[in-house]
Amino acid sequence: MSVRENLLHIKRELPAGVTLIAVSKTKPNYMLQEAYDAGQRDFGENYVQELVTKAEQLPKDIRWHFIGHLQSNKVKYIAPFVHLIHGVDSLKLLQEINKQALKQKRIIDCLLQIYIAKEETKFGLSFEECEELLHSDVFAGLKNIRIRGFMAMASNTGSEDIIRQEFRSLKEFSDRVTSIMFPNCEFGVLSYGMSGDYKIAIEEGSTMVRIGSSIFGERNYNK
Ligand SMILES: *Cc1c(COP(=O)(O)O)cnc(C)c1O
Repeated sequence: MSVRENLLHIKRELPAGVTLIAVSKTKPNYMLQEAYDAGQRDFGENYVQELVTKAEQLPKDIRWHFIGHLQSNKVKYIAPFVHLIHGVDSLKLLQEINKQALKQKRIIDCLLQIYIAKEETKFGLSFEECEELLHSDVFAGLKNIRIRGFMAMASNTGSEDIIRQEFRSLKEFSDRVTSIMFPNCEFGVLSYGMSGDYKIAIEEGSTMVRIGSSIFGERNYNK
């Protein structure tokens, strides 16, 4: 199937209120353009240099989502234009995003990445660390960032029960935390679900799914 057909097929299945991020890392511009021509405007990338290059070359009304692990020293390259930074997992990184956003005279929307998987390799804050961050005085002073919600990745497992339970734990955390008034927050976004688990994610309250290989095909990293 073509990129266009894959995309339209997935879009037909998504309930209203769920945003599709087309994850285009490692994929060439012509494939992104094909998705764009089929109406897609939200794209997700994991690598700063790749994102910057694609943003220069592709249509200007694309909303670029940074979904990878962001290093503080690279925030400045995406600060002028990034639409939403999904993987924020430290106060230090938030401070740098705030600093670069101020330079650009803008407010940058961010999601806090929460660690819900059983694996050692995934980034993210624990629920406790996340609440601590939201309550901190340093956080309250960051006027050029806005926390829109939370992002997570489930365990890489064949067990639907484990995945479902991990997503559910984040939804419960979010329901509790978003009922509290925090500064610099405007909650509502829950970013979880990828090609292999987005249907479960939606059943468990996701509002933003990040789908790559089901749209663009498998990735080949040996390029
Ligand atoms: C690559 C990636 C995706 C998309 O993964 P697929 O399995 O190809 O859909 C989603 N989220 C993050 C954070 C990723 O790095």
